[in-house]
Amino acid sequence: MKNYKVTLIPGDGIGPEIVAEAVKVLDAAGEKFGYSLDYTKILMGGCSIDEYGEPLTDEAVNTARSGDAVLLGAVGGNVGNSRWYDVAPDLRPEAGLLKIRKELELFVNMRPAYLYDELKDACPLKNEVIGDGFDMVIMRELTGGLYFGERYTKEIDGVMTAVDTLTYNENEIRRIAVKAFEIAMKRKKTVTSVDKANVLDSSRLWRKVVKEVAADYPQVTYTDMLVDNCAMQLVMNPGQFDVILTENMFGDILSDEASMITGSIGMLSSASLGKTKLGLYEPSHGSAPDIAGKNIANPIATILSAAMMLRYSFDLDDAADAIEKAVAQVLKDGYRTSDIMSEGMTLVGTDKMGDLIKETLCKDTIMR
Ligand code: NAD
Repeated sequence: MKNYKVTLIPGDGIGPEIVAEAVKVLDAAGEKFGYSLDYTKILMGGCSIDEYGEPLTDEAVNTARSGDAVLLGAVGGNVGNSRWYDVAPDLRPEAGLLKIRKELELFVNMRPAYLYDELKDACPLKNEVIGDGFDMVIMRELTGGLYFGERYTKEIDGVMTAVDTLTYNENEIRRIAVKAFEIAMKRKKTVTSVDKANVLDSSRLWRKVVKEVAADYPQVTYTDMLVDNCAMQLVMNPGQFDVILTENMFGDILSDEASMITGSIGMLSSASLGKTKLGLYEPSHGSAPDIAGKNIANPIATILSAAMMLRYSFDLDDAADAIEKAVAQVLKDGYRTSDIMSEGMTLVGTDKMGDLIKETLCKDTIMR
């Protein structure tokens, strides 16, 4: 039986509640599909600050590095009203997130945006735009570009001037492009590379390198698109996209736009990947301190993140498919947590939603 080492980071707020549900579902899938997982818990975020005085210890990083994948709930507290924020930025809960991404060399963030039939009412787009729905992933470069370039603000010739620098080298572009084409091979085999090549030098290099990488994947249909056009296309015809590949800032903005059109933040999974199979999987939402401990958080984003972990870190595609199908079935059966509740549906809490997905997964109708 295949065995994998998973580092669990429940984190803060609703984190422990939603991670517990994901573990329930992962273990049930393991029994059905013949794999086992060993979990090691580490502290990150506010809980680590309380215990060790810092958001992520080096020892915790080493534990994560020695495992096969990391599953994270969320970190952070109530920003305006928490002792965790009366300190320097590098000692706040979210600094743990930046540290683990950096230490594990995770240079790409992958965020799926999928519209469930049952949640079409929550999508802000018109029915004729939604059409048959959409199923895309945004692959965003995570460690380069404008957010990491040289920056300063100073007076130049008597005028206050601020400068941010957007830098990419060909190696940074190539490694994420390869990842995007590899992911496309597991999906609908279409890559849209998004840039601003009509203006920016960094985008012209981006386009050149992506084109070179595309030549190695003749099975994948590849097109370039300008970022302003992509922002429009996402709300005009989202069904056209499969994999959207883009740099850090464009990805930051486009992935939020894409997540909005799915209707609920409690449904959105994500993965941060690097050169190796060791990835970090987490819901796209935060620690939701306003609803922590009430058993009302939606665990689906975390459960779907766990499915991504099976698919992309362990190549257990059948098990990942089955979890995704079980989630869709439970929604079809009319069960909802409060964030996605609508008339005529059955309201359930966090643990009940986890139980329902687990039970549905175990049924024979969810095929191997
Ligand atoms: P948030 O995503 O935690 O919450 C925004 C709103 O969505 C809240 O009303 C919340 O109740 C709701 N919500 C979020 N997840 C939900 C779920 N699974 N089910 C039902 N409702 C859900 O964003 P925020 O309030 O801006 O941030 C709260 C804390 O989380 C902050 O400390 C922030 O820094 C942190 N944060 C952490 C991460 C991370 O760990 N990756 C990401 C974003 C924010």
